[in-house]
Amino acid sequence: MNSVEQHINFELNTYPRRDLTIVKGRNAKVWSDTGEEYIDCVAGIGVANIGHCNPKVVEAIKQQADKIITCPNIYYNDTRGNAFERLFDIAPDGITKAFFTNSGTEAMEAAMKFARFVTGRNNFVAMMKGFHGRSMGALSATFKADYKQGFGDLIPGVTHVPYNKIEKLRGAVTEETAAVIIEPVQGEGGINIADTEYLKEVRKICNETGALLIADEIQTGFCRTGKMFAIEHSGVKPDMMTVAKAIAGGYPVGAVLCSDKIEIPVGKHGTTFGGNPLGSAAVEATIDFIKENKLWKEAEEKGKYFLEKLENAELTKARQIRVLGLMIGIECKEKVKPFIEQLMEEKILALPAGPTVIRMLPPLTISYEELDIVIEKLIKVLS
Ligand code: PLP
Repeated sequence: MNSVEQHINFELNTYPRRDLTIVKGRNAKVWSDTGEEYIDCVAGIGVANIGHCNPKVVEAIKQQADKIITCPNIYYNDTRGNAFERLFDIAPDGITKAFFTNSGTEAMEAAMKFARFVTGRNNFVAMMKGFHGRSMGALSATFKADYKQGFGDLIPGVTHVPYNKIEKLRGAVTEETAAVIIEPVQGEGGINIADTEYLKEVRKICNETGALLIADEIQTGFCRTGKMFAIEHSGVKPDMMTVAKAIAGGYPVGAVLCSDKIEIPVGKHGTTFGGNPLGSAAVEATIDFIKENKLWKEAEEKGKYFLEKLENAELTKARQIRVLGLMIGIECKEKVKPFIEQLMEEKILALPAGPTVIRMLPPLTISYEELDIVIEKLIKVLS
């Protein structure tokens, strides 16, 4: 059986598949089993910010694999300790503790549990078009009805309000609200960027009502938007931040970053694999690479370059281009599935974000030559 047959025969059919078998990646490029080369603006869905198979991460994983791969959280571990220290070196002011998980969804699930525990309140206010994962808690905060339909009762007490509309939020957050959950830039929802004034007001409403503020930085974190974390564009300080995706160069790691409002007693939460030494080594190497290469600057400058070139082009099929760093959304006048297929024929990998938005999340280490090719092909497909 070839790879396609193996997947079709054995994998539960939950993914909308593309006709491509990826077998190798280096920086912003991936290769198929037939040797075709693609520029990868999917990057593991916003994971490979430091490029595929970043040599620093590859080396760190190899070395760690030779030392110890697993070590439960009841024991201290040197590499895990280093990963915590690296994370706190880059975390915004006000973050004082962290809990490691294996994915973004698990980080959201933990953050929602922590919010309920700390406040003694039950309810959450999340955003329309928001995406936070698909476990029962995270799915309750996720907006899209189709993702929830058929799965029975989710957790009670979750309300969704329109993004960037402060009056709607004011009406929804009460003294029963454990937390407001928000992506500073909505990823899956269409690359929608929160206004700075809005985020400041969100913080104010949380302060007034005693609700916690959870910033979901799972897609926006680690320089994607031109700052280490997207919330930093506004200066707002969340009570918890969930991170994952780009934190470990492609190795599955997530974390909840907590302010000193969050205290959870021993035994109240846990994980077997979260904080494992292999993932921790990858976190350490990834954060070192990000800092050494000032990746926030790369994202900011390349994003501006990209936007300027596209704004100067006659993209007749595009309605609006939304860019923050290298988090790119091109809102089109029609459904984007055919455009994404055409881009793939042109050897560019891109994603949808809803039916009418093309989403591009290239590695922040992509070269200007590669960006120029992406821009040229986008112009070809959208003109
Ligand atoms: N939150 C956001 C903003 C995301 O983009 C995602 C994944 O796309 C998640 C949560 C869920 O993360 P994971 O797929 O790692 O469980």
